[in-house]
Amino acid sequence: MPRKNRRRSEPEPRRSTAMDSTIVDGPGGRFQVRRITGSAAEKTYRCPGCDLEIRPGTPHTVAWSDGGGGADRRHWHTGCWNARDRRRPGHYR
Ligand SMILES: [Zn+2]
Repeated sequence: MPRKNRRRSEPEPRRSTAMDSTIVDGPGGRFQVRRITGSAAEKTYRCPGCDLEIRPGTPHTVAWSDGGGGADRRHWHTGCWNARDRRRPGHYR
């Protein structure tokens, strides 16, 4: 049975990797965080969380300090980024 009414096929909103960032406040300060889809990941990056490579095609997370203009942009495995706070217990406000 139909799960929901299908609308006429709308063009899927284009996923802009350039605008999909959110602000996150954490122990290390305020960061901008952007999710990178697998299709947008075209290069190999090194994750600062685990020091392993993020292969092309791997959805991951980019983060940089807010106000830093992106100069300290880092590509993280999403899991490593999410886990980074857990390594520093006691720093929560
Ligand atoms: Zn990692």
